[in-house]
Amino acid sequence: MKKDEGNNLLPRPPIIVVMGHVDHGKTTLLDYIRQTNVAIKEAGGITQSIGAYEIEHSGKKITFIDTPGHEAFSKMRARGTQVADLAILVVAADEGVKPQTKEALGHIQAAKLPFIVAINKIDKPDVNLDRVKNELMTAGILLEGYGGNVSWQAVSAKTGQGVSELLDLILLAAELENLKYEPAGQTQGVIIEVHLDSRRGIVASVIVKNGILRVGQGIATPTAGGKIKSLENFLGKKADSLEPSSPALLLGFDSLPQVGEEFLAREVKLGIIEEMPLVTVKRPLTVPLEDSQKLKVILKADNTGSLEVLDDIIKNLPSTKSLEILEKGIGKINENNLKLALTTQALVIGFKVDLDKAAENLKNIHNIKVITSEIIYELLKELEDYLTLLKKTANLQAELEVLAVFGVPEKNKQIIGGRITKGPIKNQQKFEVWRKEQSFTQGRILNLQEQRKDVPEAEAGKEVGLLIEADDIIKVGDKLKVFV
Ligand code: GDP
Repeated sequence: MKKDEGNNLLPRPPIIVVMGHVDHGKTTLLDYIRQTNVAIKEAGGITQSIGAYEIEHSGKKITFIDTPGHEAFSKMRARGTQVADLAILVVAADEGVKPQTKEALGHIQAAKLPFIVAINKIDKPDVNLDRVKNELMTAGILLEGYGGNVSWQAVSAKTGQGVSELLDLILLAAELENLKYEPAGQTQGVIIEVHLDSRRGIVASVIVKNGILRVGQGIATPTAGGKIKSLENFLGKKADSLEPSSPALLLGFDSLPQVGEEFLAREVKLGIIEEMPLVTVKRPLTVPLEDSQKLKVILKADNTGSLEVLDDIIKNLPSTKSLEILEKGIGKINENNLKLALTTQALVIGFKVDLDKAAENLKNIHNIKVITSEIIYELLKELEDYLTLLKKTANLQAELEVLAVFGVPEKNKQIIGGRITKGPIKNQQKFEVWRKEQSFTQGRILNLQEQRKDVPEAEAGKEVGLLIEADDIIKVGDKLKVFV
């Protein structure tokens, strides 16, 4: 393969996620592509899906994530991970654009993913392609040939009509993305499925995104770690190493990692920081105000009148410039609202409505910010408080995630190891300690070391050792935050 001069980058195949309204044919399409493009003799090895598969089309590889729907996708986005390079938005020709089509589009756009529309079920009698295209245009999808540049293909996942052309479009779009990886770089990827096998223990399905995944490497996610004992490709064949964008089955985790988590894998070396439990750092969730200077909001109210009031008040707030209304609607706050909030990091505001059960669950699991009240002034007060908190977060100068705690700590003498997620961090700086997204105590850096040498400051991405004093004892997983 041709190497990029200097950077030593190699091309990698695209990773595709299929999304769309329920029953529009996502599973059928994924099954059809798998059945017709994975060589039969090799496919003999497939006993069950590992959450993703790889095909070859026109001599080029494509990886498909075969857990359709938004669930896995949302989980990954919530963790700031992005596994897919490209999305296929499936729309059934007989039904056209449906609520979940729009929702999927919202997810795709929030993730800034390029996408291709597959208009499916064209084998059905009485389908009207023009009607579907019009609906797509109305939903804001500007199709190629109709004044826009979103590629689309009419297909039948049942008969296979148009599927080969769809794969051509995928390869074309992928080429434009110029996907690369560093073979000598940090091995990194995403956990796409996890299960506990009575015989083999913890079995994780992963997709490699950078570097090379090898048997024997230490592996870690923000919540779990271990050492890679064995690797299999998606056909169940043992492998010593796997390259991006290959799906792999991996054995060797000591504890259960979570779906959607990013992992790092590397040769385990000695040295003070390397001796730390191999825990990787979650890519910090982007702070809304820092990200785009706009806080996204989703508005719900009990009737049109209330919604108008809420909308009006939100639009006329002094801080309105920093708010963007993503969606507004009538009725209880539901699962879909929260899923959108999760992927876009939006704030949900409910006036005279509360959350339904599913939404309540999602809110609790993912710690999504929801403000509800029967009284508009209370809503405003809470909103103002939240904006103040965000402003504070936007003033974050430096942040470090605590990865290890050494010895028996005393308040005025704690030795910790951590990774800087926002920098630089400076010796002698005062910090707040955050636990579970809340300010918990404070302290000061007494000494800062990088690779066991004293340093005045250290940059983001670096792992450092620190001697600190704080009003409480620091734990692994805490964050030290320095504000302006
Ligand atoms: P999903 O919920 O999006 O994964 O949808 P499924 O793949 O489960 O498909 C829902 C239903 O539509 C199933 O009964 C499929 O057999 C049917 N279906 C899917 N694709 C096609 C197609 O291209 N043509 C026809 N006629 N039926 C299809």
